[in-house]
Amino acid sequence: MKLENMGKVLDEIREGGRFRKVQDLRMVTASKGVRRDGSECIVFNSNDYLGMTHEQEVQEAARDAVRWGTGSGGARLTSGAVFELSDLEKELASFKHAEDAVIFNTGYMTNLGVLYALGGKDDIIFSDALNHASIVDGCRISRARTVIYPHSDMAALEELLKNTPVSGQRFIVTDGVFSMDGDIAPVPDLIRLKEKYNACLIVDDAHGVGVIGETGRGSAEHFHVSGIDIQVGTLSKALGAEGGYAAASREICDYLRNVSRPFIFSTSISAVTGMTALAALRLLEREPERFVGRLMENTRYMKEKLAEAGIPVEPSDTPIIPIILSEEEKTLAYASRCIEEGILLSAIRPPTVPAGTSRIRLTVTAAHTKEELDRAVAVMKAHFPLP
Ligand code: PMP
Repeated sequence: MKLENMGKVLDEIREGGRFRKVQDLRMVTASKGVRRDGSECIVFNSNDYLGMTHEQEVQEAARDAVRWGTGSGGARLTSGAVFELSDLEKELASFKHAEDAVIFNTGYMTNLGVLYALGGKDDIIFSDALNHASIVDGCRISRARTVIYPHSDMAALEELLKNTPVSGQRFIVTDGVFSMDGDIAPVPDLIRLKEKYNACLIVDDAHGVGVIGETGRGSAEHFHVSGIDIQVGTLSKALGAEGGYAAASREICDYLRNVSRPFIFSTSISAVTGMTALAALRLLEREPERFVGRLMENTRYMKEKLAEAGIPVEPSDTPIIPIILSEEEKTLAYASRCIEEGILLSAIRPPTVPAGTSRIRLTVTAAHTKEELDRAVAVMKAHFPLP
């Protein structure tokens, strides 16, 4: 794009009501934020599903790790080979029942790194139509051809697998929990298809870990299956830190460490970030009921209260609660009113979701108190529906 056209593009974005600014926020608890002007809000759009960012044990681990330096100083294959990250990889692998795991700097970079490294020019990646942008971009930077299948439609996917000739490797890639609808991918069917068509199955459990499965291990545990070849995850949501990982066979992980450019050429996360995630992981493993159980309980409570208030929530098995208002303007206006009254939730519009499906999206966490959930429902009810 020519730089002189930038203003025009920005004007179009503004005219379409899509111009966005970063909203500065400081979290004072895992569920309450304070803006720069001092106004408080209860946060319903955070991915800190288990409230780990404010757990005392997790914060102490982060504080303690500062003595090993505030930054890692290099990539993992050079000087950024922080002990804590290797420990974290081992424990993540064990948590995901995989042989090994590789940490990347973000969940986003994990999808880029995995798909870039594995998708060769003779390969085909079959990708769900509603996959996260990081998977979409990973498909773009890989050299493989990408074939999109309709959302979670296993009959359509099978037709495509059957009718698309491939000389190299087939990959199937899906979100485990879809971030905008909160629905769960049909993993047992995907495993059946990947076995039948000799494909490699990649499931991104960014919103699954800590959230689904009795002990928060994600979609494999939710369905009580094994057979996902690469389990992608993030440290940035339920584990209260930043970073991402791929859990897989030792061979795949060694391959990623040696071939994946986002792994090789970027300074690794620090010991502070690594210890934050490791402490959160250990806490989750030790006390799943306190975290996953509480999250499930809060989710059930919130959905029930919203329904009682006459607010139609889309059915989902997860704490991601979409409320479809269809029109963009209505969705924006409704969100602004709730935000003005201190309930921070998201208005999701095209191009993030298809036209005509603009929605409010709120996420419940284990950290919300019943009073906070009740307050949110009261505010949401007072403004619903808009004229
Ligand atoms: N995968 C999915 C499904 C996501 O929703 C997200 C983030 N929202 C990511 C990957 C990226 O993770 P991160 O924020 O850690 O980069």
